[in-house]
Amino acid sequence: MPLDEYTRKRDFAKTPEPSGARKTRARKTRQTASLYFCVQKHLASRLHYDLRLEHNGVLLSWAVPKGPSLDHRDKHMAVQTEDHPYDYGDFEGVIPEGYGAGIVMLWDHGTWQPEVEDVDAALRKGDLKFTLDGYKLKGSWVIVRTRDRPNTSPSQRGRSWLLIKHRDFWSGALDITTFAPLSVKSEGDFDDILAADMPDLWVTGRPSRGGATGKRLQEIIDKAAVKIIEREERQAKTTKQTQYRTSGTRRAPGRTSTTKASTRGSE
Ligand code: MN
Repeated sequence: MPLDEYTRKRDFAKTPEPSGARKTRARKTRQTASLYFCVQKHLASRLHYDLRLEHNGVLLSWAVPKGPSLDHRDKHMAVQTEDHPYDYGDFEGVIPEGYGAGIVMLWDHGTWQPEVEDVDAALRKGDLKFTLDGYKLKGSWVIVRTRDRPNTSPSQRGRSWLLIKHRDFWSGALDITTFAPLSVKSEGDFDDILAADMPDLWVTGRPSRGGATGKRLQEIIDKAAVKIIEREERQAKTTKQTQYRTSGTRRAPGRTSTTKASTRGSE
């Protein structure tokens, strides 16, 4: 049961994350269907990037704290996490509380192809070579399992991997997480996602209160608050203008200044 761990960790009455009720993606023709991949930038107790590769109808998942690197000399730690339902792959939004509470941004997505015949065998062996075709990540990659440390807890054993870009046309020194930090779904940043979502969700759902992430999150919340206020002001203004247009041609006092304000265009 690939999604047991995913389901066990979440209370679907409290999280907007997909429940995976449609647990797996129905596949018609294996040959013609391309496999989906995504990277979700996740501001939880710590910022990380979740790499997810579609396999057997679910999404194999790794949390990469530093994010993917295009530099073939980098070996970035990737901690394997529970398989996620296929429907999770385009999720972007706020997880108000519980496991993984925070903000999820769809940072990249596209299709992937294994460079091996047997993905399960490669996973067992701990060496999966694959090609990505996303907006930000492309070309050949490998994910290799590393040896556990003596102090690795039983639940974490066998979950430690390294994500490495192979040297090819798509590798290079460009710092992709800094160069292309925004969502491929909404084109926004974390504060836009927060502002677009139900604003009262985050009051109860602050992922971490102290430390660097807490400070970062507070800044994001402040920025989102400004965006929400601006949006409400814009809506109020539009409503006023609409009322004006429908109220006939008669000029009311103060009309001139309102007109001037509205010709400034959208802020
Ligand atoms: Mn995550």
